[in-house]
Amino acid sequence: TREGIAIDIGGTKTRGLLLRDGMVAADHTVGSANTQNVSREEAELAFAELFAALSPSAVDRVVVGAGGADTEADKEALASLVAPHAPGARITVVHDSELLLAAAGARTGVAVIAGTGSAAWGRNDAGEESRSGGWGYLLGDEGSGYWLSREAVRLSLRRMNSGLDATGLALALCASVDAADVAGLIAAFHDPEKGRRYWAGRSRIVVEAAEQGDEGAQGILAQASGDLVVLAASVLERLGIHGPVVLGGGLGQHVSAIQNGFREGLARLGYHDVRILEQEPVFGAAALLDAPA
Ligand code: BGC
Repeated sequence: TREGIAIDIGGTKTRGLLLRDGMVAADHTVGSANTQNVSREEAELAFAELFAALSPSAVDRVVVGAGGADTEADKEALASLVAPHAPGARITVVHDSELLLAAAGARTGVAVIAGTGSAAWGRNDAGEESRSGGWGYLLGDEGSGYWLSREAVRLSLRRMNSGLDATGLALALCASVDAADVAGLIAAFHDPEKGRRYWAGRSRIVVEAAEQGDEGAQGILAQASGDLVVLAASVLERLGIHGPVVLGGGLGQHVSAIQNGFREGLARLGYHDVRILEQEPVFGAAALLDAPA
């Protein structure tokens, strides 16, 4: 029996698969092990929980796709957290955006993640690779879940400063965090109990408000799609390719306003091959288990 483990570390959760002779034998999800938003100790605990649940017996190969793994040092640090759980196994850590192309069954093209965070990455026929964005929630992550919520809070605060009434979006945000009024959103946003993952989850409120016709929320979603288009286009241009462009992440896979804006924006630039990711990225890691080193 050959055993391999495939892992996808996003901004909110970590999902792992145990594969035995290519078949999924266990599938488990734990909290984020993304060292951009959890400590090394928390990441260690997440891996311990994940491996205990997958309970491999003799793993020879592990592929990890990790958000926030930007440098070789980041990747080595993550590999060293995995190593004690998979003695003797060959461990490969790649950036999480790489998993999307593999999950879409494409060898070349550009993958765009719009999830808790955002990033674009691609590869061309010559094997050249290129990335845009993915700087994390403090520096960028345009078009991500966290970004949508933060922009919605900022818009509500700007309107308050201008003496305008709270919109449906602002009221929904206040209700969801138990803030008495728009000014209360400031403290809620800085509340250490409500971190990156929490606010990324609130992006649902922005999406719902847009669906109910809130113009501010619609504008934020349009801006998000436009920013994701810019990320994708810069990678396409640098690699000299036209696609495919695979859109994934929670927002990318499920929010039609983002999908439509993204397709339209890329079409205006002459890129017409946009695909919405259908399989979770962890299956991309599973596909990479069999790839040559
Ligand atoms: C991280 C990227 C990651 C993206 C999507 C961002 O916050 O900085 O490394 O690819 O989220 O998960």
